[in-house]
Amino acid sequence: MQQVHSNSASGRKLIYAELDLSAIEQEDAQIYREGVRLSESFISLEPERQAYIRANPCIPKLFTCMDEKEQDTVEALGLPNGVSNVYQTAGNKLGATNLVLRREIQTGIDRAFSLGKRVLVLFITHESKSEPAHDSCAAWGHDGRAADDNAVRHVARINQDYVDRGAHLEVVQRHLIAVRLKSFTDLETRVWYGERSCVDPLDFMPSDGVEIDNDELSRRVFSRFAETFPHDDSRFSSVSEGEWVKTLRQMTDMFVANVHYARDVATGKVKPTKAGHKGQRIFVGRGAWDEFSEVNAYFKVSDFTPDMLRECRISGKYVMKNAILGLKDRGDGRLVVPFHINVPYDLTRPGDRCGSIAHAMDLARSIKNDWEERLCGAERVRYLAELLQALKHDGVNPLECPSLDAVTPEILRFYISVSPRETRRPELVATGADL
Ligand SMILES: [Zn+2]
Repeated sequence: MQQVHSNSASGRKLIYAELDLSAIEQEDAQIYREGVRLSESFISLEPERQAYIRANPCIPKLFTCMDEKEQDTVEALGLPNGVSNVYQTAGNKLGATNLVLRREIQTGIDRAFSLGKRVLVLFITHESKSEPAHDSCAAWGHDGRAADDNAVRHVARINQDYVDRGAHLEVVQRHLIAVRLKSFTDLETRVWYGERSCVDPLDFMPSDGVEIDNDELSRRVFSRFAETFPHDDSRFSSVSEGEWVKTLRQMTDMFVANVHYARDVATGKVKPTKAGHKGQRIFVGRGAWDEFSEVNAYFKVSDFTPDMLRECRISGKYVMKNAILGLKDRGDGRLVVPFHINVPYDLTRPGDRCGSIAHAMDLARSIKNDWEERLCGAERVRYLAELLQALKHDGVNPLECPSLDAVTPEILRFYISVSPRETRRPELVATGADL
């Protein structure tokens, strides 16, 4: 059923070949079949990505929440798949020191520099316009102000950090430009913040059903960006006027794409669909997951986040709750919380796949151990009480709930995969049984 390459010296299982998908739960196997399909689409889009990079001065990097509502960020900004790296972490809480992230940004800068480009960081937090106190960022306890303050600090710091300075500490070369955005999930709008003002897609919606011509729309948006992000804004220090204009054009294109994306919601043609937490699975790590963009379906927890286990606990609780609610509705007795772990590797570096498997297995083991502590022994009673509270909060009568006795470590599923950076094709290499 599964092929295992053995290390001949020790006889230990070191490198797994790909697992047979028919051997695992079919609902879960579907994720990997979908991953293969998405990988093919990713490969076929390479010319489009190259064209985008040639045509624009910056390579985007997006920072967003792990929330299921934020998974369509790339699409909403009109970016070709895979042109930007996306970093998802609960509430963008990246920590004061994050060496892994620093190295990631530096690698991105090196790559951009070799192409004569800069990195454009979009730091995106989220809120709900209609339910700000209940359906904004759970990682910040729905306190939009706290999330904003953190984002302002981070963006300022990122803008200061990645510059070369001269003898008098003046900026002589800027490698990165960072901007803060706020995503209003129920409106599908992403608002861009300058130092004193902001640009809101709602200001550019068709009024009384009258469409604005696309060139005219771009012209108006560009002029608002020029006011909001003037050339003397410190984030453009050492950037020539020509490069500044090109950067604003790139930002304008993303903004205009978002205006189109949000229009149907704003004009009432389409009902907002994003509310609450509807996730059924948790994607941990990076690589293949970047291609998955369905909203309301899964959480994504990056492995560079300062407290991965905490994020797995938060998202796991929602998935557990949704599984219990689903069980109540379906009544098929299947209570499952799937964790899918993936780590990328380079096809060009021999041995990298092996290292990535080891890293992915470590991540899976630590998540599994952490949950076993919660679902067994002394912690268990406290966890079930918390879960019950969360269910009550959702208006579920505890008496109608399936028995919480079923909440044991056995309901957790672990799937471990790796994917080449070049193709993003997930290769399932181990399951929880191998941990
Ligand atoms: Zn959030």
